[in-house]
Amino acid sequence: MPVATPPLEDGTVITEHDRIVWVGPRVHAPAGGRDEVLGEHRIITPGLVNAHTHLELTTMRGFLEDLPFFEWVRTLTRARAEVLEDSDLRDAALLGVAEGLRAGITTFGDTGASAAPFDALRALGARGVAYREVFGPDPAQAAAALAGLQSQVSAMRRHATPLVRVGVSPHAPYSVSNALFSAVAAWAAQESLPMAVHVAESEAEDALVQRGEGPFADFLRGRGIAVARRAPGSVPLMRATGMARADTLLIHCVRASAEDIRAIANAGCGVAHCPASNAKLGHGVAPLAEFVAAGARVGLGSDSMASNNEMDMLAEARTALLQQRARTALPAAAGFSARSAFRLATLGGAEALRLDEEVGSLEAGKQADLVVFAIEPTSAPAPDPLAALIFAPRGTRVERVIIAGEERVRDGRVAGFDPAVADRVHAAAGRLHQWRSAELAR
Ligand SMILES: [Zn+2]
Repeated sequence: MPVATPPLEDGTVITEHDRIVWVGPRVHAPAGGRDEVLGEHRIITPGLVNAHTHLELTTMRGFLEDLPFFEWVRTLTRARAEVLEDSDLRDAALLGVAEGLRAGITTFGDTGASAAPFDALRALGARGVAYREVFGPDPAQAAAALAGLQSQVSAMRRHATPLVRVGVSPHAPYSVSNALFSAVAAWAAQESLPMAVHVAESEAEDALVQRGEGPFADFLRGRGIAVARRAPGSVPLMRATGMARADTLLIHCVRASAEDIRAIANAGCGVAHCPASNAKLGHGVAPLAEFVAAGARVGLGSDSMASNNEMDMLAEARTALLQQRARTALPAAAGFSARSAFRLATLGGAEALRLDEEVGSLEAGKQADLVVFAIEPTSAPAPDPLAALIFAPRGTRVERVIIAGEERVRDGRVAGFDPAVADRVHAAAGRLHQWRSAELAR
């Protein structure tokens, strides 16, 4: 399944060190080298791309169910600060990467408030961009917040590798002032750092940005921060503060107008569409078909385990496809076939993260990031392997995952992953639930 070109039956992929050197039908494959036959009912695909996640929050799976968005964000933020230690964040990030790898994800776009995701990606040999988060809704604290971010990022950059890069993420309009957006955008441009930002996600965010009202406005005023109408919408706010650059990843974009979509496509920004998270938190369905039609660089994100609660890009692609068909009432709206949904989970994600010259498809010259799926012929709708992957993912199983030519997963086992990490994450999740019960009893 090369993605950039049509599927090949009896295909062969030839790799050399960390690169793909040849892709084509087996009958034409050049001889020589070690040859491995995978056998029947196997699909070789490029590594899947999760364009947006929060690996350090894997502990929070199922922690905050069914809360309104403002309360969800506030409780999550307080719990992270009051309950989780640095070691908990490290364990959560490792478990998150392992879960993603087992599901065939080789490239992660992570936004994190700590260096834990960056360290976990490197430790398990995964690829990705670790966007370091910065928060600061009070404009008076913008300079201090930027200085803090600069020192954290320079420490991370000393350990960046060809596989794991560093970016920055001013979190969202409700947690970052205009002054901080502008300051980070200017510094990131100067340093050639990619950026990511949560944007146009919720009604509560719109109320704050467009009218200076709603739960976020009340909360900020309660902390003595002046709140006024900031922009006609979050996308115009990103443009006004210099955030809407070609190497910026805009996360969510649920509440994007036709004008916003044009502006995002023209600016060349990436978009991380998170269909399960947006639906689960009750934010609605993003205009994905319109983004794709406008030529925007769109990929799929799982978002954090606090709002999904699993990391599976095939499930995400299926949800995205079904939502758009349901929303538009067209059987193949804007080309939403299984093939285009699978493209979003691979090459689209690579484009959104600006890594598409390296990964996202099986092409000579690209990195050898490969997944081997085994198909159960009785539970998957053969003979169309793409329909199997997208519409019957339970009939498929990740058999092997290779990143930059190195095998990272075989038959569910992640190389270098200590199973004790999962036990510690389970224990930390227990402490979170205790904290929450005590809060509710108060
Ligand atoms: Zn997020």
